[in-house]
Amino acid sequence: MKSGSNLEKVLAAGHFAVTAELGPPAGSDVELVNAKAELLRGVVDAVNVTDNQTAVVRMSSTAVSALLVRMGIEPVLQMVCRDRNRIAMQSDILGAAALGIRNITCLSGDHQGFGNQSGAKKVFDIDSVQLVAMVRRMRDERRLLGSDVELAGTVPFFIGAAANPFAKPYEFRALRLAKKVEAGADYVQTQCVYDVAMFAQWMKAVRDLGVHTRCRILAGITPLKSAGMTRYMAQNVPGIIIPEAIIKRMSDAPKGKGAETGLAICAEIIEQLRAIEGVAGIHIMAIEWEQKVRQIVQTAKLLPRPALP
Ligand SMILES: Cc1cc2nc3c(=O)[nH]c(=O)nc-3n(C[C@H](O)[C@H](O)[C@H](O)COP(=O)(O)OP(=O)(O)OC[C@H]3O[C@@H](n4cnc5c(N)ncnc54)[C@H](O)[C@@H]3O)c2cc1C
Repeated sequence: MKSGSNLEKVLAAGHFAVTAELGPPAGSDVELVNAKAELLRGVVDAVNVTDNQTAVVRMSSTAVSALLVRMGIEPVLQMVCRDRNRIAMQSDILGAAALGIRNITCLSGDHQGFGNQSGAKKVFDIDSVQLVAMVRRMRDERRLLGSDVELAGTVPFFIGAAANPFAKPYEFRALRLAKKVEAGADYVQTQCVYDVAMFAQWMKAVRDLGVHTRCRILAGITPLKSAGMTRYMAQNVPGIIIPEAIIKRMSDAPKGKGAETGLAICAEIIEQLRAIEGVAGIHIMAIEWEQKVRQIVQTAKLLPRPALP
């Protein structure tokens, strides 16, 4: 075991893994974190804590991950390259290890212009591939970047990254993942999947490179709440592809039945994803809809979650 995290154990034991995202509050209220976390307790193998997603300032992902550890819920710390240089990141990684955090997803981060701090300076001292390599060096060699001095203590992280099969240029996507795996990614969580045929094509390219044998692939799931959300995502969110048939189904849903239709589509997508060779689990990003995660996992017949020693 590289980290001994529950997520690592579940995947190593060959179970179909389930993770879900928890978006920290845009404030300091711990009760809001507790309430969201309780919705996910026992429902998923680990809870991803986003890092100022969409570049909107929120409670720090390290702080929320530490709160989850205290609650006995396993966190996946998300860390982006947008806001900190390598000094701050390595310092935070050491701190996270000391706080008992055992999973880390390494990301570039949404552009700073998206959120509520458009004048913010972007950092990007290192990119997501270099961040993966940096954490691996800290874990496996117990060394900081550019230093030969041995670190006191261990840095036992299960290391992850993100992948987007739906961003152009498409033919570059499997190679981009291969780079992250070469750098040390143990698992990857993908952008949300609506076009299963296109995802299956990407998975074939991933299998052709042999990447699925070295890295566990968790397919992203985001339930659609309404026809309005579906159209918004299809038209405005770069790197998300929603097939016409899904847009039509959501648009044709009777008044008040949008959410139900979205959840039914979600269940169908999960079933199709499970049939694709190399898919090791799902990662549910139910944006501000954590209360539906249990239903999604239950409907997919993925409860109870394995309890591993
Ligand atoms: C599961 C998941 C969770 C996320 N969580 C967060 C979060 O918590 N906080 C947040 O701010 N954002 C988050 N994001 C957004 C994400 O960081 C951005 O969408 C980012 O653009 C892509 O992230 P990455 O780490 O996969 O990027 P990378 O793989 O590092 O790529 C960054 C961008 O640059 C492009 N690129 C990189 N290298 C090249 C090259 N050589 N040639 C051409 N193009 C290149 C990539 O295609 C991509 O668009 C998340 C995304 C996903 C899928």
